[in-house]
Amino acid sequence: MNPKNILNADLHCHSVISDGTLTPEVLAARAKANGVELWALTDHDEVSGQHRALEAARSLGLPYLTGTEISVTFASETVHIVGLGFDPYDAALVQGLHDTRGGREERAREMAASLAQVGIAGAFEGALNYVGNPELISRTHFARFLVEAGVCRETSEVFRKYLTEGKPGYVPHRWATLKNAVNWITQAQGVAVIAHPGRYNLTTNEEYALFAEFKAHGGQAVEVVTGSHTRQEFIKYAETAQEFSLAASRGSDFHSPDESRTDLGALPPLPGGLTPVWELLGHRIHA
Ligand code: AMP
Ligand code: MN
Ligand code: MN
Ligand code: MN
Repeated sequence: MNPKNILNADLHCHSVISDGTLTPEVLAARAKANGVELWALTDHDEVSGQHRALEAARSLGLPYLTGTEISVTFASETVHIVGLGFDPYDAALVQGLHDTRGGREERAREMAASLAQVGIAGAFEGALNYVGNPELISRTHFARFLVEAGVCRETSEVFRKYLTEGKPGYVPHRWATLKNAVNWITQAQGVAVIAHPGRYNLTTNEEYALFAEFKAHGGQAVEVVTGSHTRQEFIKYAETAQEFSLAASRGSDFHSPDESRTDLGALPPLPGGLTPVWELLGHRIHA
């Protein structure tokens, strides 16, 4: 393996178990082919793909950490907390994720009703065609349907015009609390990571509170290098990691060859002077 800071770790991506378009097995092969040296599959609010991902990684000789990405409501915003290296059979974690997924179908029906009001019919059934896991219908599946229906040219356009606050198809939702999400992960022997902090619409004070409360609950890391950050944000959140004494993570947030800007394993290395999150997780890596 390479020196620790330039290890080609990719600790954030999605499969058909949530809103990605590839299976865990195809993702594992793609990660390996792209030179990834440590991989985690982090499906939204789900761990049911972990066994498949682990087995696929093992057969390729690709070191693996278990992963998930939990939807959290904080300061009226949706914030994502990645968990890494946990026991995927931990009962409280599995139950907590099950509860977090619970409201998705009803929310999806309300989203479809909202879209129908602006003349877009059949969105629930249309989105469902893209769903791989019936418990995990997400805005991404609606976005794919809106492209198919010719309403938008690509999914990024959908999220500018629909499905986001103030736009047709947006339905507010209450996800897990920050405290519960961090506790489910840490009590299952994992490390909690603030995902892509540059993406949230938080004020400076709210962002400070997010980091401070996350740390107080036992959170230990933050994504610094992610497909969702600009180069300036790599630098900004490297400084935030140091300010809060958090370890740093790196992950593409890859969803699909057709939609994702950043492929598996294709990110720059972590900036120097940070503790890579995998340094905290050596004993949890499936080699
Ligand atoms: P949900 O959990 O149903 O609210 O869906 C959230 C998912 O929508 C995220 O995980 C992304 O995959 C996708 N998403 C949200 N905002 C955007 C955006 N601006 N561009 C592309 N995808 C987005
Ligand atoms: Mn997603
Ligand atoms: Mn996310
Ligand atoms: Mn993600």
